[in-house]
Amino acid sequence: MPAAHQSAYLDHAATTPMRPEAVEAMLPFLTVRYANPSGAHRMARDARRALDEARDEWAEMLGCAPGEVVFTSGGTESDNLAVFGAARRPDDPAAELTAHAGLVVCSAIEHHAVLDPTLALGGRTVAVDRTGRLDLDDLAAVLDQEARRHDAGEGPGVRLVSVMFANNETGAVQPVGEVAEVVRRHAPHAALHTDAVQGFCLADLSVAAAAADLVSLSAHKFGGPKGVGLLVVRPSVRLTPRQLGGGQERGHRPGTQDVAGIVAATVAGRLTAASRPAEVERLTKLRDRLVEGLLAVLDDAVETGVERVDGLADRSGRAPGIAHLCLGGVESEALLYLLEQAEVFASAASSCSSGAMEASHVLGAMGVPSEWAAGSLRLSLGWASTDAEVDHALAAIPPAVHQLRRFTL
Ligand code: PLP
Repeated sequence: MPAAHQSAYLDHAATTPMRPEAVEAMLPFLTVRYANPSGAHRMARDARRALDEARDEWAEMLGCAPGEVVFTSGGTESDNLAVFGAARRPDDPAAELTAHAGLVVCSAIEHHAVLDPTLALGGRTVAVDRTGRLDLDDLAAVLDQEARRHDAGEGPGVRLVSVMFANNETGAVQPVGEVAEVVRRHAPHAALHTDAVQGFCLADLSVAAAAADLVSLSAHKFGGPKGVGLLVVRPSVRLTPRQLGGGQERGHRPGTQDVAGIVAATVAGRLTAASRPAEVERLTKLRDRLVEGLLAVLDDAVETGVERVDGLADRSGRAPGIAHLCLGGVESEALLYLLEQAEVFASAASSCSSGAMEASHVLGAMGVPSEWAAGSLRLSLGWASTDAEVDHALAAIPPAVHQLRRFTL
């Protein structure tokens, strides 16, 4: 019997559709209330008021002061600003990127928006275990080693530790509170950044990320527009701007703000926060049904990083919206093509690279053998996901996998 819903968008970790309320909130700021919020006239003051209200609301949602909210062009910019901004010397914003930089330490499973700036600055990575959770002992060891190097005049000292809130490929939630304790003990002068781009839908960050000095968000992951993000910058951090200009965002991020996008992001954020507990429950059930349904009919399939005890999966440390499977005897790219033919839209790993499939550094860090990683499939759910979509995916994915395996045998 054909499924009632004929397609399934299972790529919410890549991006979500905008919430209609957010689209509606955005329109007046594109058509009527379009003035530059930095201007002095009445229309500008109106835009400024909307921006201030958005900032106040974010401050409340994130448990910080309004002046600690820095609006950016998305998660990538927030992450880059956090890493480069905290690593560089505050009194010398125009210095060469690598000159005068303190050391940055991040987890080995960060999104490229954190990992690449960290590595560009000569930083270090910290191991994760096979479930994809940060190894706190390794973190402490790296911080101790760098402290000794610094004391011996051989290293710049750790200025920033960056550990994401939830991983975008596997959904593994990181122990940010425990990370903060390790950092305070082993590198008391370092700031802590968390990329919470995949975290806002699953946790109240005013509590769950309270220990972080810097927090990145991106609006298009929770029903807001693409190209809008924010970085919480607590007063404990002296951030060097990445660009110089008109002094907006207290000089942290000069440039005319996208008031329409920021207003829409705020509406999406408000709706996400208000529905969070119910949505976490709903998505957990949907995700469990999807994964268990697939594992029940597919041989040679494992749920990446999820331990099973007596046949029961322990998904307690996973974001409810992200499921990740590795399928033996299947090539991700071919599977995604067949799924697309069946109106199932998913991805292999993160979708932020060029579209070319590269080996996932996240799976590599978790010790997933490359032959398994080659058959990886990420199915991610969000606010717009429905039961009917899960039905459709459950009907469409197994035949596609079987078809591919017949070819490769
Ligand atoms: N960080 C994480 C964990 C992400 O999942 C993403 C996007 O996939 C980003 C950062 C980048 O965000 P944006 O697409 O807003 O630049």
